[in-house]
Amino acid sequence: MTSPDQASRARIAVLSDRVRNQIAAGEVIERPASVVKELCENALDAGARHLHVELEEGGTRLIRVTDDGGGMPREDLELAFIAHATSKLFEVADLDHIASLGFRGEALASIGAVARCRIVTRQADAPIGWRIDDEGGTIGPAIEAGAPHGTSVEVRDLFFNVPARRRFLKRTATELAHVLDVLQRLALAHEGVGVTAMHDGRRLYDVEAAMDLRARIRRTFGADLADSLAPVDARDGDLSLSGYVAPPRLARADTSRQMWFLNGRALKDRVLIRALKEACRGIVFENRQAVAFLRLAMDPSKVDVNVHPTKAEVRFRDDKRLFGFLVHHLREAITRTDMATPGERLIAIADRREAALRQMDARFEAPYPDVSRPRREPLAVFEVASPVLRERSVVESVSSPSNATPLAHSPAPGAFLQVARTYIVRGLPDGFEVIDQHALHERVTYEGLLADLERGAVETQRWLVPELVELSRDEVQRLTAHLPALGRIGLDLAVFGDTTIAVHGLPARLARPKPELIVRDVLATMTDARAPESREVLEAVLQRAACRSSVMAGDELSTDEIRTLLERGEKLLSDQTCVHGRPTRVRFALSDLEKAFHRR
Ligand code: ADP
Ligand code: MG
Repeated sequence: MTSPDQASRARIAVLSDRVRNQIAAGEVIERPASVVKELCENALDAGARHLHVELEEGGTRLIRVTDDGGGMPREDLELAFIAHATSKLFEVADLDHIASLGFRGEALASIGAVARCRIVTRQADAPIGWRIDDEGGTIGPAIEAGAPHGTSVEVRDLFFNVPARRRFLKRTATELAHVLDVLQRLALAHEGVGVTAMHDGRRLYDVEAAMDLRARIRRTFGADLADSLAPVDARDGDLSLSGYVAPPRLARADTSRQMWFLNGRALKDRVLIRALKEACRGIVFENRQAVAFLRLAMDPSKVDVNVHPTKAEVRFRDDKRLFGFLVHHLREAITRTDMATPGERLIAIADRREAALRQMDARFEAPYPDVSRPRREPLAVFEVASPVLRERSVVESVSSPSNATPLAHSPAPGAFLQVARTYIVRGLPDGFEVIDQHALHERVTYEGLLADLERGAVETQRWLVPELVELSRDEVQRLTAHLPALGRIGLDLAVFGDTTIAVHGLPARLARPKPELIVRDVLATMTDARAPESREVLEAVLQRAACRSSVMAGDELSTDEIRTLLERGEKLLSDQTCVHGRPTRVRFALSDLEKAFHRR
């Protein structure tokens, strides 16, 4: 409530520039990494071919970005620290086709308001350079200065005048990690630009201008990753997608190695992240994130980059078409990676353990000759193999007459055995593979159901006597509305009483249907915030049904059952992972075996 005399007093005052800039800084400048990002983007906008980044104490003491770009004339320099001063945008209409990384004219004003800054700049054709200082919002005059071509922006003592923000800065190592992340994303986004970064006098990161995207990935994340990538290259009208995706086995717990670049701008947009997730559904293990480096190019007028202060999110004018385009081509690319889970990885683990043990041995040998040595653990690959060898049947097949001949001939390609009632070992032309019977059966069943759904007819196996499932009253209620939709995916359910559902039939493809578990899974899937009739939910229900109703670990299988399972797997586009993205098989190539037996 406002009393009349209060209302008559003016309480609104226009904030000073300094306060306004500090507030803006709160939005855009969170930590040293945000400063590095803004400065580097400015350098790139100025046409730099090389960025030199110097840091002290994780960037909290000093950040200096020096570029070889176009530089600024004196008149521009005098405006650089003024808010909403930009050379990149003149009128609102320009917002429709932004091609530069910056455009809001906020960054330098914000940074100047919360640090001690200096810009030194010289244009290529200018006889002399200029410099200007901004100390926490107090902007000095432009002064003549000797300088190389290009621009150098120095930011010292970030948040020196905003103690509340300064307290929020983390340890040097943490801030540095954020800075490195920004630099790596920039380096990956901008082929043709070289970057060197130094921290406290030591080299932190560098890429040469001539390196292409794959070479940059190799430098940043190592050869193992770079060499396993499959390229993506797709185009649809003005839309183009290029870059690389990694095989599913390299997926990670977080999205730190998922990078999207839109028209050269690194971004973390929800639509793009969702598209990649969707493309990976059922291929990459559910709670893992794919590794990918993707460049998207499109007409700048089809995307609004001005929806987020740090421009990390954008708004696509036609996100449905974009989404479909991305999912299709990304999925296709991922299936082109080597989806097999190579036994080689087990050997690598074993090798590392070997080396560690050898080191330990050496340590024990020298000063304490009498101390008993740590027991040598068997190699991981032998751990995998040992249950195989314990099974009599395997020993027989391996010690067949061919065992004197090279490894390539045993076991015979196509020959298989069940091991521990859980795995199937099968000969390949150049080695063997170990298959998880449950994982493969689940994948085969699910793909069959999906194909049925695609055709619009999931065949139901009906029973003479329905199976009754006891539920709570509200569970029955929740289910009632969706019975027709469930009917379409082969689940023939009916309400039998206030607290009972009758299961009259389930998809005929389910080898060992478990009615009660399936009904409960349906309920669990539907409580998610997703539309119950949607394709996504129906697929999720089928996924779970496939999982529940497949051959389990521990189930004895006949030779015919195994043969049928393997044959059906081979007909699929992708039988390398189960529907949750776990591998269905681990492959031991001849080369893996040679390594394991130190024949090479
Ligand atoms: P924006 O990048 O959104 O335009 P900034 O506050 O980041 O706003 O920069 C303000 C202006 O200063 C830019 O528009 C540009 O003209 C100039 N500028 C900043 N950094 C550089 C640089 N490294 N080289 C040349 N000009 C620069
Ligand atoms: Mg900028």
